[in-house]
Amino acid sequence: RNSGPDTGKVLSFRRRHLGKSLSLSYETPLKIVRGSGAFLVDETGRPFLDTVNNVAHVGHEHPRVVKAGQAQMAVLNTNTRYLHDSINRFAEALLGTFPDELSVVHFVNSGSEANELALRMARAATGHRDMIAVEVGYHGNTGACIDISSYKFDGKGGKGAPAHTHIVPLPDAFRGLYRGRDTGEKYAAHIREQIQQVHAAGRGVAGFICESIISCGGQIELPDGYLKTAYEAVRKAGGVCIADEVQVGCGRVGHAFWAFELHGVVPDIVTIGKPIGNGHPLAAVVCTRKVAEAFANGMEYFNTFGGNPVSCAIGREVLQVIADEGLQENALATGEYLKEELRNLRTSFPIIGDVRGQGLFLGFELVDDHRRPLGGQAEYLANRMRDLGILMSTDGRDHNVLKIKPPAVFSRTNADELLFRLETVLGEDAMAV
Ligand code: PMP
Repeated sequence: RNSGPDTGKVLSFRRRHLGKSLSLSYETPLKIVRGSGAFLVDETGRPFLDTVNNVAHVGHEHPRVVKAGQAQMAVLNTNTRYLHDSINRFAEALLGTFPDELSVVHFVNSGSEANELALRMARAATGHRDMIAVEVGYHGNTGACIDISSYKFDGKGGKGAPAHTHIVPLPDAFRGLYRGRDTGEKYAAHIREQIQQVHAAGRGVAGFICESIISCGGQIELPDGYLKTAYEAVRKAGGVCIADEVQVGCGRVGHAFWAFELHGVVPDIVTIGKPIGNGHPLAAVVCTRKVAEAFANGMEYFNTFGGNPVSCAIGREVLQVIADEGLQENALATGEYLKEELRNLRTSFPIIGDVRGQGLFLGFELVDDHRRPLGGQAEYLANRMRDLGILMSTDGRDHNVLKIKPPAVFSRTNADELLFRLETVLGEDAMAV
């Protein structure tokens, strides 16, 4: 395995002085020094095709985004207590991508901060604290976000769900409690059951939070009708519905700009992160006027960096690049092609149990012929692909799902390169079941 000349030194400093809970990708970690389009370049100058990074949405270090940030940084960066055109222009462009009901935005600096604020809003709007969230979901690193993230509190170092969090089964049509795409109603029934339990305990429901394709859970597409039925039940109980679009938003899913739109619902609160800043720390909470009014109870919401002119210039440029370069259309065309070809690979390699996702938010799952998860093979595959110059990552409860969520500039040629290398590795002895 090749690692660069400097990797050892960087690694040993990191081990001594950086927090131990940080993780590194791959058995032989990479030292990346540059990015461009769908590629990352290591310290030896070797390019790697990036199939993982949905943050660098319009491509790593997109020149227009870099320039927009540099230009504004050279003039002014300050907070939202002054009037500035940059924040208004970005807010207008961002809200223009939403249904009319979602008309108020708060800018923050990370997906975690966005969900943290969304939780505060849900509490303010309902007077309640109890949240319903999905098994193996992840919503961020703050205290309140960990409290609704089964991916964390049910995993290593976790202490299980706190009393005010109510977890419903992962609506996994392939390997979950109920199987098939027509299981939306059955899965949603668990939400009604949780609502009843909250009520039975003499409390009320603040809200329900869900991604429209569940990422850390293993690129899980929601079964038909799930979100619609879930939202109806939660609203009937007086709760608000939060769509976490941190991973799936900004045109990535192809058929829609926001993934909740695939399900014919309109959330009360939407949280946005990763892709909107293309790597710059920028995130947002978009909500209905009703929720915004309830949140504005007299206590000032101040965020030192949220909505600063530099971040807003960057966010606006990202939205313009997505439109100018047709990246939503590319995500759809390239994603459909890739999904189809991955399904074809499944015929030769039955270890691929399921291929799923929308646009350039795809996943394939490695299982044996009893649908038992093959996490070891998934890890082997990701590490071998890295050796061959392609960056992939695994996720899901059993870490047996390969996630494909590249920069949205990912081309058909890039897809062909990925497929070519996958075919090689899938045929290796270590992949045998
Ligand atoms: N929500 C989802 C669905 C996420 O995947 C993440 C990050 N992986 C977050 C929220 C938190 O975002 P951040 O890391 O920017 O705080």
